[in-house]
Amino acid sequence: MRPVVLCFSGLDPSGGAGLQADIEAIAALQAHAAIACTALTIQDSQQVYGFQTVDATLLAEQAAKVLADLPVKAIKCGMLATPETVAVVKQICQQHPHTPLILDPVLVANSGGSLTVDGFIDSLKQLFPYAHLLTPNTVEAERLTGLSVANNEADVINTLSDLGVKAVLLKGGHEQGQMLRNRLYQDNKLIQTSQWPRLNAQFHGSGCSLASAISAGIANGLPLPIAVTRAEVWLQRSLQNADFPHKNGQAIPRRI
Ligand code: PLP
Repeated sequence: MRPVVLCFSGLDPSGGAGLQADIEAIAALQAHAAIACTALTIQDSQQVYGFQTVDATLLAEQAAKVLADLPVKAIKCGMLATPETVAVVKQICQQHPHTPLILDPVLVANSGGSLTVDGFIDSLKQLFPYAHLLTPNTVEAERLTGLSVANNEADVINTLSDLGVKAVLLKGGHEQGQMLRNRLYQDNKLIQTSQWPRLNAQFHGSGCSLASAISAGIANGLPLPIAVTRAEVWLQRSLQNADFPHKNGQAIPRRI
């Protein structure tokens, strides 16, 4: 069968982000998504109204059954929300040290609503030594390190590296400028930069989609820079073709 990406992600009932984004992105890029559901959120294309996390034992059992049964070639994390969920993922990473982990450090939705509880950021850092790739936007990178990307990007990357991360895709969606610039660092070195015309819209689930699309490439055995570029090309098209459900809401990428 197609290689499997095991995703730890939350349900977004609008279908823009979270586990639906993961399933669609991974299917579009020739892999199969299996989902261990971390949380149920209440949200639409405009905002987050709340969420409830899945019990840690139930989550661990979901993941364990999939790992025992399907050819999982990569693990992708989206919304983890609590230190308890992070602990479940950490244990699985320890049990599967050769399965690459793609870690999207989801903190807030693009609409601005928080998707984590207090104390989450410190707990998330425990996963960094297992991460094959971390995919923060610049705002997330600053919250994770307490440093400014604009003032000293190298310090931000060095700090993440000191915490154990092997590669970082620093996404420029929250910066200014007509072109959006993504930077891929591996072992503290900038190995690839890509530029994309900035589209005139806010998108719901763009980060989830990109990290999942990269995971599908990794699961298919592509080298990291190629998996990233392929995912970026695909994402840009999905955003250009996005649906606009509501005039005040965010656009939903058309992934398939
Ligand atoms: N995961 C879930 C369940 C979400 O609802 C969201 C945002 O709404 C995200 C992740 C992060 O979304 P984005 O891809 O826009 O960063």
